[in-house]
Amino acid sequence: MTYPRLRTAALAALALVAAACAKTDTVGPAATLPTDDNLALGNPSGAVASASTPANYLLTRPQYTSSYHRDQGKPNWVSWHLGAADLGNAPRQDDFRADADLPSGWYQVKPSDYSGSGFDRGHNCPSADHTATVADNSATFLMSNMMPQAPNNNQQTWGNLEDYCRTLVRAGNELYIVCGSYGRGGTGSAGYQTTLAGGKVTVPAHCWKVVVVLPAGANDLKRITGSTRVIAVNTPNENSLSSNWGTYRTSVDALESATGYDLLSALPTSVQATLEAQTDTGPTN
Ligand code: MN
Ligand code: MN
Repeated sequence: MTYPRLRTAALAALALVAAACAKTDTVGPAATLPTDDNLALGNPSGAVASASTPANYLLTRPQYTSSYHRDQGKPNWVSWHLGAADLGNAPRQDDFRADADLPSGWYQVKPSDYSGSGFDRGHNCPSADHTATVADNSATFLMSNMMPQAPNNNQQTWGNLEDYCRTLVRAGNELYIVCGSYGRGGTGSAGYQTTLAGGKVTVPAHCWKVVVVLPAGANDLKRITGSTRVIAVNTPNENSLSSNWGTYRTSVDALESATGYDLLSALPTSVQATLEAQTDTGPTN
């Protein structure tokens, strides 16, 4: 674990430098964050890194930032930037493991907690979005990045959307992605369940994602306008769903209503109002 911690420190130092260089930005609070920051578009639930907020605990890594729910044993949401630099040749590590970076005394979900449940260990931030280094890929296999996901959702619908996101990046775009899950109770390959591991992991009813698409470039926040492509989806956590993720497109406003979060909160309110009311109709592959 030494290497990721050193890298975190290095990134923090870079963030300070970037913040000092960005003083003339006036877009909003996040304007002082470096471009490509995983949380540049805002903290949807106001999560903080305090053990006294176990239902909304801010977990920060170089690869992604999340709000973790101790008593649900899964993230509320996970946010990351996806650009060409994140995609490389590191092989899939498959090293699913408990997250020892959670506050002491908190239950650490184990890979085996999902065994035989009929639900996949579904990545929020996908493995294939972090292939620049072995350490980056390995970070996606922490169980704090997983949600119990119906296999056909994870492997087909969700996987197809993840593939499409990387297609957009390879075509010259960079993305800001936030996803998560809410509700209680889903139907996996072995039927309906509300929790796993004796109640330590909640099975969500819905898995959602928001993707902001920009041509690769600088000063990202300032380039997001009312005509920027935003893809929002809300999928049922059921094995009988369609493999076509486009079927599940919705508006960011609808996701905000469903989750209680303020998504894209770092953008000017006028831009949010325009973008969040729309439902994407663009290509799906
Ligand atoms: Mn950029
Ligand atoms: Mn919003």
